[in-house]
Amino acid sequence: MSKNIFHETYQQRPFWWDTYDPNMGDAAQANVPKSARVCIIGAGYAGLAAALELARHGHDSVVLDAQMPGFGGSTRNGGMVSGGVTIGKRYSGTNSQDEMKLLLSDAADSFSTIERLIQDENIDCEWRKTGRLVMAWTPSHRRAMEKKLAGLNEHAHSGARLFMPENQREHIGSDYYYGGMLVDRSAHLHPAKYFAGLMAACARHPSITICGKAPVTKLTRTGNSWRVETARGTLDAGDVIIATNGYTGDLTPKLKARLVPLGSFIIATEEMPEDLAHSILPTDRSAYDTRRVLTYYRMSGDRRRFIFGGRARFGMFDATEIAPVLHRQMTDRFPQLKDVKITHAWTGNVAFTFDEIPHMGQMDGMHYALGCNGSGVAMMTYLGTQTARKIAGKANHRVAFDTDFPGMPLYNGKPWFVPFLGRYLRTRDWLDRTFAR
Ligand SMILES: Cc1cc2nc3c(=O)[nH]c(=O)nc-3n(C[C@H](O)[C@H](O)[C@H](O)COP(=O)(O)OP(=O)(O)OC[C@H]3O[C@@H](n4cnc5c(N)ncnc54)[C@H](O)[C@@H]3O)c2cc1C
Repeated sequence: MSKNIFHETYQQRPFWWDTYDPNMGDAAQANVPKSARVCIIGAGYAGLAAALELARHGHDSVVLDAQMPGFGGSTRNGGMVSGGVTIGKRYSGTNSQDEMKLLLSDAADSFSTIERLIQDENIDCEWRKTGRLVMAWTPSHRRAMEKKLAGLNEHAHSGARLFMPENQREHIGSDYYYGGMLVDRSAHLHPAKYFAGLMAACARHPSITICGKAPVTKLTRTGNSWRVETARGTLDAGDVIIATNGYTGDLTPKLKARLVPLGSFIIATEEMPEDLAHSILPTDRSAYDTRRVLTYYRMSGDRRRFIFGGRARFGMFDATEIAPVLHRQMTDRFPQLKDVKITHAWTGNVAFTFDEIPHMGQMDGMHYALGCNGSGVAMMTYLGTQTARKIAGKANHRVAFDTDFPGMPLYNGKPWFVPFLGRYLRTRDWLDRTFAR
């Protein structure tokens, strides 16, 4: 069965790389300079946004990546952009209402930041502000959304409203859910074209150097500056920003111990006939569901292919191994796609935090912007930008995500518990759904 779900052109690589392949750039040739005002480790959205903002304030920087720039989540994601709806998705309520307001308000600001950046830098990345659907896995999940609605609309200006199962077909070609929520202030884009646009914007600033294939192996504080050792030379920098998100490693063990890396998986389908393609998401919105082991999906920019993702398995698996699981989840929701084949499957790392919110801040003198919790297109752009403003002394407020970054006793960054967690969450999802019927 799993054999004939693959199209004859099937490739295990991101669909987005057909347009922009990060491996094809020339960043591996750029020499690592001897010094820079700021050294940014990790060339994804956070790292490049930080470099651009520093350049705007007259500071030079070098951005180093262990692989080629864009190798991480920033050219692999679903391209779904929101400003707040995912904040506090499973928020424990340990933070006060006031803190929640500030988090939502800054999350809304992240949406404005990315929208402005795309406009200012003239980035052609298929930006579509069509809104987002949050689909209810159970009736009680829809009722929980009702409680979130006022906060989202008041503090994140989300333009959110609920819809019932009987109106579901106006939004989605599926009867699988128990209604949901429509969030107007959301968008989708081509993630690799957005990344390519950031690279081009950086290239317009002579004060920014981007070096690929330059893994940072050691960081040493020397007085007020840093000695940064890489596989391609050593440099001195006044400040360091860690922007390694789901790829954070032993270079920064304390930060690694505050993050749980998880693989997220996506399949892209072959091009479909127009009427079939339009039947899936008639208003071209992106969507995710409220399952604990969530799925998320959208149409490609030309609205001919379905891009369907999820955390189908917890752990680091091969994307081709997971593709049949995603294909089954896709056809459970959209049975009309049973004969549609997969042309691409891929994976990338996201980074979860123990309080389920992203973080920026300083630890042992180094700055960091980390912990996207699965939603980082706008947020990591924002945290990179805000970290740069902080370094340049240009921050106009204390960002709500610049707060205590909790770890977990006995956890050192090796997520041994993740497969058990996956099984537990799948069981909870199954129980919720079974008893909802
Ligand atoms: C499959 C998938 C789907 C997703 N879908 C969405 C979505 O639809 N919407 C959304 O908002 N978010 C989504 N995300 C999350 C989003 O992609 C990330 O939050 C975002 O790209 C993170 O950007 P970043 O710059 O922080 O890190 P990354 O882009 O991950 O970059 C980190 C970089 O650090 C480098 N690095 C690590 N260690 C070192 C070292 N020692 N020296 C030098 N370099 C190092 C890595 O090589 C890597 O390139 C998804 C992620 C994945 C993987």
